Amino acid sequence: MIFSVEIEKPIETTEQKTSIGIDVGLNSLLTLSNGKQIEPPEFMRESEDKLGREQKRFNRKKKGSENRKKQKIKVAKVHRAIRNQRTDFAHKTSRKLVDSYDRIVFEDLQIKNMMQNHHLAKSISDAGWNQLMILTKSKAEYAGKVVEFVNARNTSQNCSGCGNSVPKDLSVRTHSCPYCGLVLDRDHNAAINILKRSISTAGTAGINACSSVLNRGTMTQDAQAL
Ligand SMILES: [Zn+2]
Repeated sequence: MIFSVEIEKPIETTEQKTSIGIDVGLNSLLTLSNGKQIEPPEFMRESEDKLGREQKRFNRKKKGSENRKKQKIKVAKVHRAIRNQRTDFAHKTSRKLVDSYDRIVFEDLQIKNMMQNHHLAKSISDAGWNQLMILTKSKAEYAGKVVEFVNARNTSQNCSGCGNSVPKDLSVRTHSCPYCGLVLDRDHNAAINILKRSISTAGTAGINACSSVLNRGTMTQDAQAL
């Protein structure tokens, strides 16, 4: 007996063998659900410090003075330099992510922001994160991969091991679960929770791996529509 097997080329998406959840932090730091961290280059932090200094100088200048005008230009130049560095970082990081993973899961920052108080540092870093997410999504689509955005609610508070709520404020950097004993870096725990909220894994209680494979076609389309 001869089996004839037609191998179809993937039309829309490649098979998603590798998935990763990503937690984005205040200081341009990314934490992946596998525990790896991606840090921005040191010069980005240096520029941010410089911006703070130049901004302070600007605030000290007399209003309406020539020096204040000059200082305003200096501040604008540092701003531009930071924007360029961020864009460069976002391009390189998104390329790395798309080359390494088939499904990339971010937290939805718009939802997250609705739950948190705004402050300047946060909104500046969010602008950078939005750029990174947009670039990752477009590179992923081009490569037939999937980027998904999930609700970030309680991703840092819930235990990624047992699901129980373990409340902690921002100063607590280690997740230590009194219920199941899991001890993890706070952001690593959050990144795992983000991955778990992905369409492919969310609500899998009672659904076995087999049916989730059968559903893959439709799930992939949903994810692409996001
Ligand atoms: Zn636990």
